[in-house]
Parts: sequence; C-alpha cells; structure tokens
Amino acid sequence: MPIANAKDMLLKATEEKYAVGAFNVTNLIQLKAVVEAAIAKSAPLIIQASVAPSKFLGPKVIAAIYKTIAESAPIPICLHLDHCNDVEFCKTCADAGYTNIMIDASKQDFAENIRQTKEICDYCHEIGTISVEGELGTVSGIEDQVKVAEDEAQLCDPEQALEFVDQTEVDIFAPAIGTAHGVYKTKDPKLDFDRLKKIANLINGSQPRVPLVIHGGTGLQPDVVKRLISLGGSKFNVSTDLKHTLIDTTYDYISSHRNEYNPGKIDAVVKEAIKGRIEYWIELLGCAGKA
Ligand SMILES: [Zn+2]
Repeated sequence: MPIANAKDMLLKATEEKYAVGAFNVTNLIQLKAVVEAAIAKSAPLIIQASVAPSKFLGPKVIAAIYKTIAESAPIPICLHLDHCNDVEFCKTCADAGYTNIMIDASKQDFAENIRQTKEICDYCHEIGTISVEGELGTVSGIEDQVKVAEDEAQLCDPEQALEFVDQTEVDIFAPAIGTAHGVYKTKDPKLDFDRLKKIANLINGSQPRVPLVIHGGTGLQPDVVKRLISLGGSKFNVSTDLKHTLIDTTYDYISSHRNEYNPGKIDAVVKEAIKGRIEYWIELLGCAGKA
C-alpha cells in the first residue's frame, strides 16, 4: 500500500470507535512479528521506534526497512518516532522518512511545550504528509530517555488541552490521564476516565479532528482498554508487553536449548511469541479487519 498517514488512519478509528495498535520495536525480528500479525488480522498498524533504537540502528536504516515493508504490505502501516524530547532529532527522523513524529515536550512548561510542538508541526507539515503527536501532562514510568516518577506525574487539564491543540495545530494528541509506562504496580491503576471524556468532548465533540492517544497500554485490563476506547482513545501504545515477551522467550529458549547454537531458531520462536501478543492486542483494540 502507499505510505499511510497516521492522522487519517486514526480519524477513521475515532469515528468508528476502535483503536489502532502502536507497537514499539527495537529490532527486525520484532518488526517482522508486528507486521505479520497485523497482516494476518487485516489491521491498520503503527510501528513505533523510540529514540534509543532509532539512534542505535539509524533513522535512515529504520525508515528504509519500514518503507520496503509498508509499500508491499496489503495493510496501511505508519512509522512513528516515540517520545522524542529533542527538537533536532525529531526533524532528523522526519527527513529520514518517518511518517509520524512525537515531540514530547511535556516536561517543559505549558508555553514552551506549545512552542516546541508548534515548531515540529510547522516543520513536518511543510514536508507534507507527516503527522505530529504532542503530549500534555506527564505519563509516569520510564519510556526510553523520558523518566517520570509517579508522584511527579501531572494529569492533563482539559481546557489547556484545547488551547494546546488549537495553538500547535498538532495532528494527534496524548493527554496524561493516569496511565503509566512499564508495569503497573496494581491490577487496578487509578485512571481518570472523566478527564479523558471531557478532553474528547472539548476537542472532538462536534467532529473528530485530533485523534487521542493512550500511552502505557501494557497491563491494563481488557474492560479498561475498551472503556478508554469508548471514551475516545484511538491510538493505543504498547511497548513493555513486547519487551517482556522478547526477553522472557529468549531466556526460556536458551535455558532449554543450552547446547544449541542456531540463532535462526531463537528468532523464529521469539517472532511467533510476539506475533501472539500483537494478535491479542489487535483483537482487544477492535481494529481487526479495519485495514
Ligand atoms: Zn508513551
């Protein structure tokens, strides 16, 4: 398929009340697993690379692999830079061919967050089809370079959210509503559903215009995920689940095949395990068959 625009993909999801999975990858095996699962489920897909893996492999390498895969896939696939707080690196990835850039200036004050987000929006919109995600309030936990302690986490103010969206012209918006990166310490984390509802009504009430993102998908119970989608979340970020699956599957395989030296076999087992997790998420998010 031609290279997809995340905003259009997510506006459709917002209207039809499902969410698109945005899955973080750090290597080619994970990337292959994610794409195979999405094709098997005929689901639209957002591949995410955060800053560390983007720098490790190089933005041009990641973008080239992505482009080759996306153009021959029967489903729409985006490539998203996740949680980048470096304006220059956002631009580097936009130039390299990422289709979606998240400028995360959420630790800055409100005015500076608007200024940096607007700078990236202007830059990406000038290039053309690149959409930009911004964040207001902070998601707790650790995601790559961005670390926020739970007690520091500040939830997104609905009125400020509207002002942020209007002033930056951001394409996709991540409001902090209490979800966290990493593993939740409790089975029933405190999420502010009313806040999400208010934000969704203020921004997308009359007509969907800026799709909303839920960060920290790993560990949320299925009924919670469905409620967040029904309230307006249309991009669902999943990272930790896939990291754990990669590490645990690799460990288990090596432990039980200690004298085997065939990396291809480990890759195949890891790929299947990750594929299983992605298929679970795609079904839960309701995006199966929506490609
Ligand atoms: Zn995140």
